[in-house]
Amino acid sequence: MRKTYLASLILGALAACSTVPPTQATVDQYVDEARRIAGEDLKFLMPVCNPQPAVRAAPSQAMDESLAKLINQPAPEPGQAFDNLYYVGSAWVSAWVLKTSEGLILIDALNNATEASALIEGGMRRLGLDPAQIRYVLVTHGHGDHYGGAQMIAQRYGARIVASEIDWKMMETGLEFDSKMWDRPPQRDIAVRDGETLTLGDITVRFMITPGHTLGTITPVFNVRDGGKTHKAMIWGGTSFNFGRDMGRLDGYIAQTERMRELSSQWGIDVPLSNHPGYDGTVAKLKARAAAAPGSNPFVSGQPVVDRAMRVLNTCARAQKTRFVLMAQAGTEPLYAASTVAPSLMDAHAEEDDHVHAGMLALGHTQPAKPTAFPFNVMASR
Ligand SMILES: [Zn+2]
Repeated sequence: MRKTYLASLILGALAACSTVPPTQATVDQYVDEARRIAGEDLKFLMPVCNPQPAVRAAPSQAMDESLAKLINQPAPEPGQAFDNLYYVGSAWVSAWVLKTSEGLILIDALNNATEASALIEGGMRRLGLDPAQIRYVLVTHGHGDHYGGAQMIAQRYGARIVASEIDWKMMETGLEFDSKMWDRPPQRDIAVRDGETLTLGDITVRFMITPGHTLGTITPVFNVRDGGKTHKAMIWGGTSFNFGRDMGRLDGYIAQTERMRELSSQWGIDVPLSNHPGYDGTVAKLKARAAAAPGSNPFVSGQPVVDRAMRVLNTCARAQKTRFVLMAQAGTEPLYAASTVAPSLMDAHAEEDDHVHAGMLALGHTQPAKPTAFPFNVMASR
């Protein structure tokens, strides 16, 4: 374990050293290292290591169609992960309900009011939870697949909406992505900063701001219970690198995965969760938990697995950063320029699988039609 971390540190030092220019071999080393750390049990994180386009996607019909396909996949059964944590999300995006002694906290609200009504309200009722008990809706980051149903839920049940100050500003002044499939962002309500907490009844949620996927991505940390045992869960708030060639974002992502890896050890976080079920195996784990003997819970992965998950994401971010360094070396653009969107490239995207089209990206070569980074990962449901 220690040895592999040391290896990734050495790799990091190599990439940072200006006298040793990175090559494609450096990228491959990172990806191999991530694959080795991921092993079998964290294999679902490996798509994060796939090459990502340098240009961020803008609204287009192709994007709406891809989103519609993702949203319209058959939803998994709603289910219970812990005594106080329930899943009411779709096959593509998660929605978690955290139950406290004084009401419910909804974590993410899916793409739009129609979907939120069917899956969140409908799922909660099937699980014996009353949506009228929702006191807070946490929006982990300001992308439409997480905020789309938030305003409806908040209005209908008088719930307060929580997001980070940074992402509230983004949702108010300029969305990174937009689509007709998403309802409008919610109206600004409670803004939280790094390390702040929210206590409702017997549960306290700590909001860690982990910039990368968005600048104000929230990674919430809270206790979950299973029988007489208490565990500590963390929902990694934003996973894919869909921001284009924005080196600051990747630096942030690298720093935050390191920070949360250290904190997860200090705090004893042993339940790694995601806000996309494809990144934590939620659907399979819900089924396994329903069939499991009392006292065993497949969501309790243990602290070493949380540590490895953070290292996989960290190492994939280093691989992507190196790819962009290579692209900059081959081109004329400054390395740390903010990612911009070229309007002429907007309709170039016709593939529905960004892993497939990202794979078509030839590093260091100019292509007539560059693929664009989508606001989502398109990992199939499992
Ligand atoms: Zn997102």
